[in-house]
Amino acid sequence: MRQIIFATGNQGKVKEVQAIMADMDVEVLSLKQAGISVDIEENGTTFEENAVIKAKEIAKLTDAVVLADDSGLEIDYLNKEPGIYSARYLGEDTPYTEKNRIILERMSGVETEKRTARFICAMAAVFPDGSVITTTGIMEGVIAYEIKGENGFGYDPIFYLPEYSMTSAQISSEEKNKISHRGKALQLMKAEFLKKWQ
Ligand code: IMP
Repeated sequence: MRQIIFATGNQGKVKEVQAIMADMDVEVLSLKQAGISVDIEENGTTFEENAVIKAKEIAKLTDAVVLADDSGLEIDYLNKEPGIYSARYLGEDTPYTEKNRIILERMSGVETEKRTARFICAMAAVFPDGSVITTTGIMEGVIAYEIKGENGFGYDPIFYLPEYSMTSAQISSEEKNKISHRGKALQLMKAEFLKKWQ
């Protein structure tokens, strides 16, 4: 059976990949399960570059297929911030309740039409022969007027999905996986794997 190592320390993401790839003949392992521990400097200038940097660094340490992702939130009114700096934005250790409160403050008085934003996820796969495939998924929304919802993580409580009249922290994780940037990038990657291995 083919092995795919997913370059993340986040078990939730590993489960999401396992669920999407469940009908394929592959075993998806986290870095920890693969016994790999490495510190990688994500010094790319785009989500895609960062995902490729991560996947390539880890591919040096294994013969398995390596999958890596990089994601974040782009807010048009804030010149596409926080973008690739989403995790570090307003301080790596600042709680998201605080980060979200500050963003809403910066957006105060901004009309709905100008509150457009999107979550972006780039996925990169590096194969044992050195070839690289990348995919990108996007989830469009607007910055909410107030923090709402307990599901999800990060910026979900301020990311409003007009078609659901809810934030992405109010919809269920199953629903979010169907429409999320990461879910879409993963589905596209699955299609690439199937093409490559058929
Ligand atoms: P990572 O690339 O998955 O580590 O994500 C980088 C950062 O982007 C996270 O720490 C969050 O701040 C933000 N982010 C990415 N995806 C989501 C999401 O689905 N909901 C909320 N925040 C997210």
